[in-house]
Amino acid sequence: MTGTAEPTALHPFLGRASHELLIDGRWLPAASGETFPSVDPSTGATIAHLAAGGAADVDLAVAAARRAFEGPWGAATPVQRQNVLLRLATLLEENYAALRRLDAIDMGSPVGPNLLAAIEKPVELCRYYAGWPTKIYGETIPNSAPGMVCYTLRKPVGVVGAIIPWNGPFQSALMKIAPALATGCTVVLKPSEQACLSVLMLGELIGQLDLPPGVVNIVTGGPEAGAALARHRGVDKIAFTGSTATGRSIVAASTGNLKRVSMELGGKSPDVVFADADLDRAVPGAAMGVFGSAGQMCVACARVYVERPVYEEFVERTARFAEGLVVGNSLDTTTQIGPVISEAQLGKVTGHIGDALEAGAATRAGGTRLIDPARAGGFFVAPTVLTDVRDDMRVVQEEIFGPVAAIMPFDDRDEVVRRANATDYGLAGAVWTRDLATAHHMAERLRTGVLWVNCFGMFEPGVPFGGMKTSGWGHEFGPQSLDEYLSITSVWLRVGTDEEARTGARRATAPEAWPGGGH
Ligand code: NAD
Repeated sequence: MTGTAEPTALHPFLGRASHELLIDGRWLPAASGETFPSVDPSTGATIAHLAAGGAADVDLAVAAARRAFEGPWGAATPVQRQNVLLRLATLLEENYAALRRLDAIDMGSPVGPNLLAAIEKPVELCRYYAGWPTKIYGETIPNSAPGMVCYTLRKPVGVVGAIIPWNGPFQSALMKIAPALATGCTVVLKPSEQACLSVLMLGELIGQLDLPPGVVNIVTGGPEAGAALARHRGVDKIAFTGSTATGRSIVAASTGNLKRVSMELGGKSPDVVFADADLDRAVPGAAMGVFGSAGQMCVACARVYVERPVYEEFVERTARFAEGLVVGNSLDTTTQIGPVISEAQLGKVTGHIGDALEAGAATRAGGTRLIDPARAGGFFVAPTVLTDVRDDMRVVQEEIFGPVAAIMPFDDRDEVVRRANATDYGLAGAVWTRDLATAHHMAERLRTGVLWVNCFGMFEPGVPFGGMKTSGWGHEFGPQSLDEYLSITSVWLRVGTDEEARTGARRATAPEAWPGGGH
């Protein structure tokens, strides 16, 4: 092992020899007996060994989820499902600091002085979905057939295969598990091989809920485990969050039983700064919109368009801001920007910067890996500001998932709308202006699933979140998310006699009683 501290000293959860799969209410090794290492990106040290689940484990987990769905969990009442989610929210509240610290070590998100500041998000999410089981209404639909009543039943879609990325692991897991439990589905969750320890800890907390076995199963492992889930005929729906490339593979793999697929995918979101913007807000807002989490946010606004009169000032102030950010070990409470997730990701980010420079871009801040005794072994990239970039460069078109801002000038509103919309992605965007009309105009014309005006990164469980174009299908949060986990049965209920059906006699007014009525 490389690095400084023993894993157990970092977090009690790291004290075990290996971390197993949660299948049918029991913790089991992978059928193959194989494990894979988990690496702390702040130090490069191996901190845990995890069971490398594969197709055989996915089979077991799907079978367990099916039994739970067709058995006791399928019979759970709305109030029982509500109470499960309320108890889960309380457990999250009690264990939030430990979960977040585990993520800090495993995925490199800084603990910061405000460790508990974001606690309300996952807790609110569970409480929000706890409110829904008692309110999943069908409809009574007027119909024209005599003696017939028509209504809809909204039913859980069944066994959900949830596949999630490594950025914000337990939060991502909850975004799938909470609506699934609210609607009465069961889950086989495949977290990312890059960071999934907090998901396993979440699995232990879920174990305290006394759910029937098999309601929530967790299979750790790599792409093969995800692919086995995506093609499994016993899975009714895949809820996926991850890259657009993987999303395409999942759609292709899901065709066997044409399972339902919802997808939250990648992005290359635009930030548009108008000359009338309050730069005291726009500079730090736009900067943290791309440097925050070391740029590893699906919603990172990495293409920054700035109206020409304030372009130079904006670039200069953003470069100074970038240089002032404290980059370091995620467990250091002064750290603002942690490492990127892996050595491979480090290579990808620096490769993108190198390509851009070769294509004519200039660096105004950062541009390199940070490697010095204080950061030895870790995967740190200096927050980077690039100028002299063109719209057709890879650095402007492709998702980098690193702290790299490409800042470009623009001259008028139509031009910036056209350029901001000119990528395959459509996840998020931000606009900075003091003019309400401009803000609304941009909200109408930008093809993004979410738009922040004079702010960045606002989320709330009741507000739908999802991408356009290659950024995804469907929504997280809000009632829209529940629809992804529900199917509809339309019920035709014959209540009239044959005579009544033939004559329409039960109608208060016979059809022929008004001109144009008829049968
Ligand atoms: P990824 O697509 O590489 O992996 C995501 C998950 O899919 C992992 O669990 C992985 O093991 C699994 N997987 C990989 N190949 C698979 C296959 N062929 N079949 C089935 N499963 C497979 O993504 P990542 O690197 O973990 O995460 C970063 C990406 O996720 C970025 O593109 C980011 O924008 C995106 N993301 C999107 C959102 C959103 O809400 N839109 C949120 C977070 C992250």
